This record gives sequence, C-alpha cells and structure tokens, in this order.
Amino acid sequence: MEIVHLSAECYPVAKVGGLADVVGALPKYQNRLGHIAKVVMPAYDLKFMHENEFEEVYDGWGKLGNRDFSVRILREKTNKLGFDLFLVQIPGLLNRPKVYGYADDLERFFAFQVAALDWIEQWEHKPDVIHCHDYHTGLVPFMMSNCVRYWKLNVVPSVITIHNAEYQGQFGFDKLQYFPSYDPWHSNKLEWAGAINPLASAIKCAWRVSTVSPSYLEELSHKANGLEALLASEKRKSRGILNGIDTEVWDPSTDPMLYKKFNLKTLESGKRANKQGICSVFNLDPDKPLFTFIGRLVGEKGAELLPEIFYHALNTYRGEINILILGSGEADVERRLEELKDGFKGNYNTYIGYNEQLSHQIYAGADFLLMPSRVEPCGLNQMYALRYGTVPIVRRIGGLRDTVSDIGDGGFGICHDQTTVWDVGHAIDRAYNLYKNQKALKEIRKFIMKLDHSWDRAAQEYIDMYQI
Ligand code: ADP
Repeated sequence: MEIVHLSAECYPVAKVGGLADVVGALPKYQNRLGHIAKVVMPAYDLKFMHENEFEEVYDGWGKLGNRDFSVRILREKTNKLGFDLFLVQIPGLLNRPKVYGYADDLERFFAFQVAALDWIEQWEHKPDVIHCHDYHTGLVPFMMSNCVRYWKLNVVPSVITIHNAEYQGQFGFDKLQYFPSYDPWHSNKLEWAGAINPLASAIKCAWRVSTVSPSYLEELSHKANGLEALLASEKRKSRGILNGIDTEVWDPSTDPMLYKKFNLKTLESGKRANKQGICSVFNLDPDKPLFTFIGRLVGEKGAELLPEIFYHALNTYRGEINILILGSGEADVERRLEELKDGFKGNYNTYIGYNEQLSHQIYAGADFLLMPSRVEPCGLNQMYALRYGTVPIVRRIGGLRDTVSDIGDGGFGICHDQTTVWDVGHAIDRAYNLYKNQKALKEIRKFIMKLDHSWDRAAQEYIDMYQI
C-alpha cells in the first residue's frame, strides 16, 4: 500500500511532543512491512532544513481566500529517516523558527493542507490512504471528499489519528472563504458547537478514526473536550491503537546521547554512570533515589500540582531523595518549580526548557519517572523510562493504563488513581520503600528493560485498519 502521512510534526525534523515521535517512527516501520509510507509536513525554519539536502518535486501556487501563496515541495535526498520526507515551503507562513504559537496558525496550517492536496491531486497515480494526524491536518478529509478541486481524491480513504483531543483548532465561519469551492449544503460536516472545528470535521469525514491507545478511545466517549457525543456516535469506525516507541532511537545500548551506554548485562553499572553524570551537572546526590518529571508543564500533565507534591516529598524525605525536572510550559508553574530550589539545594533541581539530549540522559539515570497526568492519550515517556530501566509512577489513565501495571498486582510500575497531591505523595512513599529494597528494584529493572513496545505490532495494526 502507499500511505501518505500528513502532520505538523515529525522527529527529528520538528518536535514539540509525542506526535513528532509517532510520525517519525510509524512510516519507517510500515515501510519495513513492505509498504510505501511517506511523510508530508511543513518546512519550518529549523536546523534540519539547513543541515540536509533536498530536491524540488513541486513548484506552484496555492490559494487561501483572496490570498495567493507560492509553494515549493522538497524531498529529502537520502531517505535517511527510513521513509520519503516531503517538506512544504510556503514563504511568509511556514518558514518560521517555531512549529506553533503564532497569531496566524490557522492560516499557516490551512495553507499547508491546501498545498499538500494541490500537489497530491496532480500525481499520476492515487495513494491508497491519506493518513492525517491531529487537528492541524483535520480539514483534509472534508476537502478530499467535498471540494470540487480535489474530486480525483474523493475515492481515496482518509484516516485521522487523534493524538490529543484537547486541541481541536476551532475557528469562525467568517473564514469559510478559505475553503476551495464546495457545495455549501455540506457545511454541516465542518461544524461543531457553532464553529468550524477541524478535529470534529475529521472525525465526521474520515473513513477511519484512530486514537493512540485503546483506553483513550474508551475515555473519549465521556471526556473529550466537547466531542464526547460525536466520538461516541462514530465509535464503529474508530480504533484504539497503542503507540510504539522507536527502539532504534531509544536504545540504551547504542544511544549516543548517554554518559554511558548499557544493556541488560551492564544495566546496574550503566544506570549508575548516567545517574552520576546528571547528578554532578545538577548538584544532586547520586547515592539517593532520583525522581524525575519530563514533559510539558501544563494542566493535562498535572503540572500545577508538582510544586506542592515535591515540596511535601522533599520535606518528608529531607536529604534522602533527589528530584530533577525537565520541562517547560505555564509560566506560573515554571516559576514555582524554580522557587523550590532555594529550600532544597543538593537534592532538587530543574531545567526549564526543551533539551532532547538531557531527556535521554535522565531516562537513563533516574530511578523513578512521575506521570500524574489528568489526560494521557498514550504517553511515550513511560515507555522510554521502561526501556532505560526507570520505574514509572503513573496515574491509571489513557495509555498509561494500557502500558503500566502495578507492582501490587504482579506488575512492574507504581500506579495511582487520582491526580492529587495525596495520591502522588503516597506513590512516592511506595517508590521510596521499593528503592530501599535494592534486590527487588534490580529485578524490576531487568524485567522492564525487556518489555517489548516496539512499533512492529502497531505498524501492522494500522495496516489492518486501512484494509478492513
Ligand atoms: P505529549 O505529546 O502530550 O507532550 P508524550 O508523552 O506523548 O506527551 O511525548 C512527549 C515527548 O516529548 C517525549 O519524547 C518526551 O521525552 C519529550 N519531551 C517533553 N518535554 C521535553 C523537554 N522539556 N525536553 C526534552 N524532551 C521533552
């Protein structure tokens, strides 16, 4: 099959969160199964664009209402990512240093979707599937099946994968003029709760809908930021497919970003060396358990509770535990996490910002990774932690529920039910006690490193979904 993935992010070209990791891995594994999977994404002004070679495959003009824009599509020459990568250049709109966060994000991603479809529509053959990811590409299923200009594509099945239903990209009907012409009778396929809603439209118009874990699909029927009823009514065409992780990028025995590489045999000495590395940079005590949080500092991740949770834990276990945070997000949470440093020097530190290399080092060096998420469509951090022998402490929600089972139930992680200071605090107590029992901890580390979360299974599940 020929599969075209359309996405705003793709690792290592442009990454903000888990979406990038998925789109950077799934196509590679689909190709290995004998299919032809490609990625089409915006050309941002990022390092990858300057450090690689490209050839032009398309040069044309697009239209967004009254505005004409020029489009060039470039193919990365070497296929080094394991799939064909196509970057859509739209000067003035896409060539900026950040992926999201501009006042005209609507126009940027709308133009990207129009440009991608204009190009694909001109191919001599048709792809077998157009696979859209999240709301940034959510208007594609509607445009493929309704806009006159794309009539050739209306027989091609489209798929939307929901990586996060909290973000839907709603905008007003005053922007209806951006759409290439279509029969206005079909405007209801764009609408949800009085606005044009790209994610809702994709759920209505796509041939298949998928979520990034089975539990998340179930949860969306009761909690989906306003889309509950729609998702419940489209359940028959929906599937929950648990993400994998790219076990080539995330492999402690080959990871060039670590202080020391390690495998099952060298697990203890390897983790120790990585712990010492980060502890010396962040002024922590390598002889004490190291707890960490890595991720976006936003409400979904339970981040605003972290300062209080850590304050209690650091007081309860004064001098007996370390905590290191890597993340960025809400300014108030960042500030409160920074302020904690004064009271707990030598046992607590933060890195506010984004740092890919440091994230690898922390997964390798930490003892416990906290994920007290309120919403977690799949979550990748817990799977990276497992692969690097770090015990996850997670709330039983979404993909966390599908990937981590509690030690008390014969599993290998520490699970709690609520995103509350009390529940997470209790989980930290349990982790502290586990750390004191080094024999049990070593057994668990060995076990979790062997768990298989590779993409092989998930890549096949996507292929099955396209075909049935
Ligand atoms: P989400 O997509 O909701 O942010 P996921 O768990 O699916 O959460 O994916 C998060 C990804 O982003 C992981 O690869 C994680 O390591 C990475 N990440 C998040 N914040 C940072 C950060 N500040 N520095 C480095 N990597 C980060």
